[in-house]
Amino acid sequence: MRLYNTLTRQEDAFVPLRDNTVRMYTCGLTVYARGHIGNFRTFVSLDVLRRTLREVSGFGVRQVMNFTDVDDRTIIESQKAGVSLRDYTNQYIAAFREDAEALGLEPVEETPRATDEDNLRSMVEMIQALDANGHTYRSDGSVYFKISTLPDYGKLARLDHDGIQSGARVDADKYEKDDARDFVLWKATTEHEPTWDFGVGPGRPGWHIECSAMALRLLDGAPIDIHAGGVDLVFPHHENEIAQAEGATGKPFSRFWVHCEHLLLDEGVKMSKSLGNVFTVSEVLERGHRASTLRYVLLSVHYRKQLRFAWASLDQADEALKRLMACLTRIEGIAATTAGQDGEPHPELAERLEQASQAFGAKLEQDLNVPGALGVMFELVRHLNTAMDDGDLGPPDAQLALPVFERFDAVLGVMALRRAEEASPDVPVDEIEQLIADRKAARARRDFAAADGIRDDLDTRGVILEDTAAGTRWKRK
Ligand code: AMP
Ligand code: ZN
Repeated sequence: MRLYNTLTRQEDAFVPLRDNTVRMYTCGLTVYARGHIGNFRTFVSLDVLRRTLREVSGFGVRQVMNFTDVDDRTIIESQKAGVSLRDYTNQYIAAFREDAEALGLEPVEETPRATDEDNLRSMVEMIQALDANGHTYRSDGSVYFKISTLPDYGKLARLDHDGIQSGARVDADKYEKDDARDFVLWKATTEHEPTWDFGVGPGRPGWHIECSAMALRLLDGAPIDIHAGGVDLVFPHHENEIAQAEGATGKPFSRFWVHCEHLLLDEGVKMSKSLGNVFTVSEVLERGHRASTLRYVLLSVHYRKQLRFAWASLDQADEALKRLMACLTRIEGIAATTAGQDGEPHPELAERLEQASQAFGAKLEQDLNVPGALGVMFELVRHLNTAMDDGDLGPPDAQLALPVFERFDAVLGVMALRRAEEASPDVPVDEIEQLIADRKAARARRDFAAADGIRDDLDTRGVILEDTAAGTRWKRK
């Protein structure tokens, strides 16, 4: 496996350090709001990375993905809502789990919350180790990291050291690269803020210390193999995580740093809660799109390229998936026929399947080249469709082809999701689409009673139709 490592700014060969098991930490959602599809672009890409490491490279995976349930934003928003921090963040953790399941994200091994006592205690222990190593100072009851005590501070973000103002401090969780400052590890108690006292005075953790401490606690110490998140986290979050973990342990923190590019809106603007231009997974589904289609859109662009999100891209993705599923269903039909079962597969076809399988894995092992792997899969779909059209694909061939698609989907996770959607007890999507087409035809022949009948029937079954300039859309009630 070769992975682009932000630390070295190049693709490096990757193998886990210990026991053939990848120890990976992913910065999870800050649960001050429901995650948006930009967040899920990162999470889906990292789900594909996790599956590739296991299914293609053959490693074990132990992954931690945290919930940031205490930081500047969660505190402010919970105060605005007049709810306790825990109650406030609980609802967004539940929403995350719902959206993650809808998108077919595999559950990861650990999903710690920063405010769980074991985690808070490990943050305090890390701060005490930093104290002992001379990397901290105190001011007004808060503890700060003194960046001038770590000569290689800035190595991840490649900071220009001349620009760093020695001694200046920053309390905010987020700030710009030009403002590299001593940052807060533990914030002194202020009125109305939640507070804990486990040994460095009453207060609450800064955002950065949370991830360093939870990563090392749950992944058996430094160095971990992979640390991942979106590109916006390179500075200050990941730079500061390195400073804390390395300042406390004296060992390298993470061997690989993997960063996913952003999802942008079609106009080239980043999707971000603070800009108020977000769509959530549930909003996309309410507009009548399938979760499998959204997953496909989110994974289909290389993770180091920006993804421009447009509604039309969902329609195109849906077409591609329909082609894939139609081919698969056809192959399954042939595999299940009894006539000709005992023949041998065509040797050229067997070779072709083997090649596709190899090429699919090889693309993924080149810095997770998902578009390349999808290209291999659709090339095979074309080939098999032609073979089936020509009557050249018998049951033994079909039986050989099916496991190849299973292996593709062990990484992609879209076909299984699609099948689960089809099997759901709701009105099946195909049926809705057929009824929309029937209604359109009824209107065209001016049979409005039939058209209205279809709409009313769907309405009683929990599906609402909306006529827009772009055509009829549906959503579930
Ligand atoms: P946050 O909740 O802001 O801490 O973000 C959770 C994860 O989503 C982090 O890894 C972010 O880098 C990532 N993220 C935030 N916005 C986007 C976006 N527009 N596109 C892709 N990833 C994003
Ligand atoms: Zn983090």
